[in-house]
Amino acid sequence: MPYARDMNRTNNARIAIIGLPFDINSSYLRGAAEAPPKIREALFSDAYHWWSEGGLNLESYVHVAGDVEARDEDDLNAVIESSIQQLLDKEQVPISLGGDHAVTVPIVRAFAKKYPKLSILHFDAHSDIYDEFQGNRYSHACPFARIMEEGLAQRLVQVGIRTLNGHQREQVKRFGVEVFEMKNWRDDETFDFEGPVYISFDIDGLDPAFAPGVSHREPGGLSTRQAINVIHKLKGQVVGADIVEFNPRMDPSNVTAVVCAKLLKEIAAQMLAADERG
Ligand code: MN
Ligand code: MN
Repeated sequence: MPYARDMNRTNNARIAIIGLPFDINSSYLRGAAEAPPKIREALFSDAYHWWSEGGLNLESYVHVAGDVEARDEDDLNAVIESSIQQLLDKEQVPISLGGDHAVTVPIVRAFAKKYPKLSILHFDAHSDIYDEFQGNRYSHACPFARIMEEGLAQRLVQVGIRTLNGHQREQVKRFGVEVFEMKNWRDDETFDFEGPVYISFDIDGLDPAFAPGVSHREPGGLSTRQAINVIHKLKGQVVGADIVEFNPRMDPSNVTAVVCAKLLKEIAAQMLAADERG
């Protein structure tokens, strides 16, 4: 039984892991749609326990909410948004497993209804803020342009960035995005937010040495340790998250699946710590 722990779901289990197995908006390689079961396999593997590094046993707080199904492409954004909305309506805290980064637009549409003053902390090699890409305004290269145009976030903070071109620099300026580029990275940087924070974690924000299982390997990124430290030191109430762009077809050693599971646990611990602080 792959999710035996879920059978014992308790009332504490506020964190819902939801799979979004979609990669039709990927511009280069397919495969991200295959990520959710691989991440769950790593998460529920007997090789690991459920304690966070900070000393919280997450086991009774996390449950699997299944995978979203969409009839066709046109249906996709509406189905993702309503699935997230249903979890939020039940006071659940969703952690979504992509899928390519295009899924973040409908997810954040649902979050913005509940949290009008939402901030986003976005880990990525890429700004994902193209006005359009290869004729697709919903490409995985565009989600943060849509999010900012629709006014879904009061603040967008990007870390891990190392691929800005002229158009993207203009877009960053136009939308007032706070970009922390890798070329200027400082380990003592801290990220403070007023109010609710959503974490969108594109796994290619990490260096491909640590997480090779991505469609666009971009050298010069964050180490797994640096990313976890950012999550640990983050100030603000983390109300939801996604982990996207893991491509199992590019992950022969399976290490990237384990990295995704590790990040999920540390993000979940941060959510619960904020709960306890009230
Ligand atoms: Mn990326
Ligand atoms: Mn991305």
